[in-house]
Amino acid sequence: MTATLLDGKALAQKTEAELQQRVAALAEKSGATPILATILVGDDPASATYVKMKGNACRRIGMESIQVEMSGDTSTEQLLAKIHELNENPAVHGILLQHPVPPQIDERACFDAIDLRKDVDGVTCLGFGRMAMGEEAYGCATPAGIMRLLEAYDIPLSGKHAVVVGRSPILGKPMAMMLLNANATVTICHSRTENLQAHIQQADIVVGAVGKPEFIKADWIKPGAVVVDAGYHPGGVGDIELGPLHEKASALTPVPGGVGPMTINTLIYQSVMSGERSLG
Ligand code: NAP
Repeated sequence: MTATLLDGKALAQKTEAELQQRVAALAEKSGATPILATILVGDDPASATYVKMKGNACRRIGMESIQVEMSGDTSTEQLLAKIHELNENPAVHGILLQHPVPPQIDERACFDAIDLRKDVDGVTCLGFGRMAMGEEAYGCATPAGIMRLLEAYDIPLSGKHAVVVGRSPILGKPMAMMLLNANATVTICHSRTENLQAHIQQADIVVGAVGKPEFIKADWIKPGAVVVDAGYHPGGVGDIELGPLHEKASALTPVPGGVGPMTINTLIYQSVMSGERSLG
């Protein structure tokens, strides 16, 4: 068996072409384009790179981005004040607070201060709760991007057993809820899970969101399973040992070029939706 590559890079490129047209149509109709405000606190180089990539993606589709940079000693109050200012600014349609923020900041309070209508990265508790209840909300960008990728490749989810390894607020937890909403039977594993391998062996769909390079071994995975690897580590490896799975899985997300491009793509996709709701 040769696994189908779930090509996030190609899907993101295709979607960008569509988004470009939607932004142009909006500009013609309303005279304005959607604006995403990105907030970077501190000088973590990886975070700075991610923010830059998000700004570049906005530009590629003709959208604007406002880049807010705050020093590493910013307080929770100062960050909250900035978020409130962006909430109040009618020209801003989406707000992205780059995770993680420095440790003195109450990240959860800051995420939750983002106006639900501008929560295009899907990080608020309110947005999560609404999504979990099947109400309208912007999905958390990485798991929502994974869902869009699975849908684009017609991967069946209903009735399938999905095992999500990881339960972080931005990935594992919303991923599990989205799969549940798509009628998968979901198991969530984490650092206290006993017999992790036995759980993974049961899975029709495995999502690796552990944050450890090639932690999930290829021989733990059932032949024919669908493999989604959210990880990205130096050297171009993910959280799953993907090499042998090219001949064992039915489909897999390559690293790089699978989940990563879909995360940024979902952020701009949802920013365009927010812009259309406000300007259209
Ligand atoms: P995280 O906050 O560090 O969470 C890691 C999760 O893995 C936690 O729930 C943890 O369990 C679990 N875990 C750790 N060790 C484990 C073990 N031995 N067995 C089972 N579970 C274990 O990481 P994250 O932010 O969710 O990110 C996960 C991965 O996705 C990382 O590789 C990250 O780089 C990647 N990521 C990619 C994108 C993208 O755009 N492509 C975006 C975000 C993240 P506990 O809860 O019990 O601690």
